[in-house]
Amino acid sequence: MSNCLLCDEKIFNQESLRSLILMKKDNPTMCDNCKNKFDPISEAGCKTCCKKSTETFCEDCQEWKRKGKKVNHRALYYYNEEMKEYFQRYKFQGDQLLACLFAEEMKAELKKYEGYTIVPIPLSDKRNEKRGFNQVTAILESAGIPYQDLLIKKDTKAQSQKNKKERLKAEQAFERKELENKSWPEKIMIMDDIYTTGATIERAKEMLHVNGVKEIRSFSLAR
Ligand SMILES: [Zn+2]
Ligand SMILES: [Zn+2]
Repeated sequence: MSNCLLCDEKIFNQESLRSLILMKKDNPTMCDNCKNKFDPISEAGCKTCCKKSTETFCEDCQEWKRKGKKVNHRALYYYNEEMKEYFQRYKFQGDQLLACLFAEEMKAELKKYEGYTIVPIPLSDKRNEKRGFNQVTAILESAGIPYQDLLIKKDTKAQSQKNKKERLKAEQAFERKELENKSWPEKIMIMDDIYTTGATIERAKEMLHVNGVKEIRSFSLAR
């Protein structure tokens, strides 16, 4: 029996019992009490970006549409207090064990998008160095999800030090990565940890479109 990665209580629930009986390797990572504090994305929100919204297409997506952009985003959870705390521990305090907290769920969800190459949003080198790891690729790796690093980001200031307005400013451009003797995949799923305004993903999409990628979706743990 394993312990909950968040509160360290022994996990004893249906899921852990089942994995014990079936001798499955993927033990549950959270106790029910912790799991229930997260807020899974419901069908009721925005159809194109999963935002909690009473409208079929949220304000953000309508704005993107006016700019000629097509949002096609999926997420697993809403960014509530619990999720905020999770990212605090995982990203900023660097508790790398927490990379596997949602790994199995992520894996199950991504299975629905067959034929898509997973491409994570990169961190600039400076931020990578400071934090010691890329929180997006760490999740993918712990889930055993293959991905390709096809984006290079030029950015000097850490995302968390910027205000919303600064983040929205189109200052983070993606560089084209030279693929030696390889063509770009036709279908790409861009991966990020949190989807906020969608600006980062739209910038990445622009670059991929220029390189002839036909179908582009995006995915994040939180929305
Ligand atoms: Zn717990
Ligand atoms: Zn939306």
